[in-house]
Amino acid sequence: METIIGIDLGTTNSAVCVIRDGKPAMIKDADGSAILPSVVGLDSQGRLLVGQPARNQAILAPERTVKSIKRKMGQDTTVTMADTKYSPQEISAIFLRTLKDRAAQELGRPVSKAVITVPAFFNETQREATRQAGELAGLEVVRIINEPTAASLIYEAKADHRERLLVYDLGGGTFDVSIVQVEDGVVEVLSSHGDTHLGGDDFDELLLNFVCQRFQEQHKLDLREIPTARSRLLQAVEEVKKQLSFDACVELNEEFIAERDETPLHLKMELYRNEYEEMIEPLLKKTIQCVDDSLQDARLHAKDIDKIILVGGSSRTPLVQQMLESQLSQTPHQEIDPDLCVAMGAAVQGALIAGQDVGAVLVDITPHTLGVQCRGYVHNMPSVYQFSPIIHRNTALPATRSELYSTMFRGQPAVEVNVFQGENVDVRNNQFIGGFVLDGLDESADAGNEILCRFDLNLDGMLIVTAIERSTGLEKRLTIKNAITEFRAEGHEEARARLAEMFGDRTSPVSATRHPVPEESQLPEGERVAIKEAIQLIAKATNLLPHVGEEDVQEIQELIEQLEDAIANHSLSDLGRYHERLEDIVFYLQEA
Ligand code: AMP
Repeated sequence: METIIGIDLGTTNSAVCVIRDGKPAMIKDADGSAILPSVVGLDSQGRLLVGQPARNQAILAPERTVKSIKRKMGQDTTVTMADTKYSPQEISAIFLRTLKDRAAQELGRPVSKAVITVPAFFNETQREATRQAGELAGLEVVRIINEPTAASLIYEAKADHRERLLVYDLGGGTFDVSIVQVEDGVVEVLSSHGDTHLGGDDFDELLLNFVCQRFQEQHKLDLREIPTARSRLLQAVEEVKKQLSFDACVELNEEFIAERDETPLHLKMELYRNEYEEMIEPLLKKTIQCVDDSLQDARLHAKDIDKIILVGGSSRTPLVQQMLESQLSQTPHQEIDPDLCVAMGAAVQGALIAGQDVGAVLVDITPHTLGVQCRGYVHNMPSVYQFSPIIHRNTALPATRSELYSTMFRGQPAVEVNVFQGENVDVRNNQFIGGFVLDGLDESADAGNEILCRFDLNLDGMLIVTAIERSTGLEKRLTIKNAITEFRAEGHEEARARLAEMFGDRTSPVSATRHPVPEESQLPEGERVAIKEAIQLIAKATNLLPHVGEEDVQEIQELIEQLEDAIANHSLSDLGRYHERLEDIVFYLQEA
């Protein structure tokens, strides 16, 4: 049977996939990469460069390099590369030819047929140009399919009932969202929206500006004006950006980035995920607006969507997942590599056309979210029971993720790390799976001492939880076997009861995670006891919040804040004053 290869011809990256033994198999290059950057160039000797080598020379030799040709497909135009003009089809054909040759080499036989994907918004002329590019590359394009259709096929190739999927595709240079309906294996795009100039490249620029501004403040030198430094930094910040999808804080370390008065300058700084998220949030809000628009066009509501599928490398950004989840009230699927699922879907389509049998694509994922308890908000109320997810459900295994937390008051000697699995914002509705105390923290540290919490979840479901005090490197870890065993309803109730008891709900005090009572503290005895009692009172008052009227809520919240400030400032007189007032209210409300 002839193999029909599946090709994702992307603006930033392209990829090729075949079905082998009923399963999609990505074709990799000699370095083991399944991704071919969609960049072509000629080196100084006029030799052809395709993919990463071309990408590497893009900033230094733009006149010999062509990127993002997909944006020009279907236009009556040419691009110039080292003084020669090429049509967009010719340039695209270079990628297609490269991928075709890769597939032929891997399969050990010639390849002549392909399914190629295009964005849902491509018009007929753009589709025809893509077909021509295929022909130039020596390929018979048996079908052109929409990218969201391909992505849906990989998740729903066998659906025998009607499913509606929202495909959110955020790549390097473009964003689009489509709502597709799959019924009896037929995929229909119901609506599509997007922005052809929004993607990871914009995030890189924002991060680059941020880093360069900081560097300029220190060294009075704008690295953006030095081409070699700029190009090096752009690649470096892209790597930092990718790492920030998994870690809460990443170090950027570029030695000898520039020189002044013959003195080398080094760039070393830490970048935090929350800073980065602030930068990109306005752009992500635009994508959420597009999600709303496509729902409206399809005359559907969020609840009509059966699955959200993430496509494109930039959809790995945790904030994307959070914003989608809060907008659509369901967790997006990300179990299949978002860079590869379009090419995989194209290969599935190719196999279906060729009459090949395609099995379900199985990947190991975590069925529940794993996270820790922290102090924050539950249903907009301050709470010591907030669940802070670290590894979200449906994440492909193995997975490593980290989050940053901080201590609540100066001289805090320890933090308690309680690990839960489940989906509820309130840890008491999730399952407790283990915990430990990281003690011996630097007691000279102010409030806000950073504690990094890292989860490593392997294919066997073993979870290693590590807590690290960032300023000193003090570290403690816990291994939890079978962290992803089934979470059954009865276990859930049991867990709930056990926790309620552990935390002494309502009647007895609660110990606040991340703000443990300073037992071993070197604080004076009187202050230690006062803080301990204040924390207990805060927990008790927080528990009451959902059950009291609006006016009381406001008063209680204010007093909690004042009491927290008093703890942080070690002000015994304020502690006493606010404690008394809050205690009166709590007493009165409990009696009422
Ligand atoms: P695509 O066009 O789908 O190949 O996506 C490429 C874009 O995804 C580039 O901007 C990459 O920097 C970005 N990207 C890849 N991996 C990650 C990641 N782990 N987190 C955030 N962005 C990523």
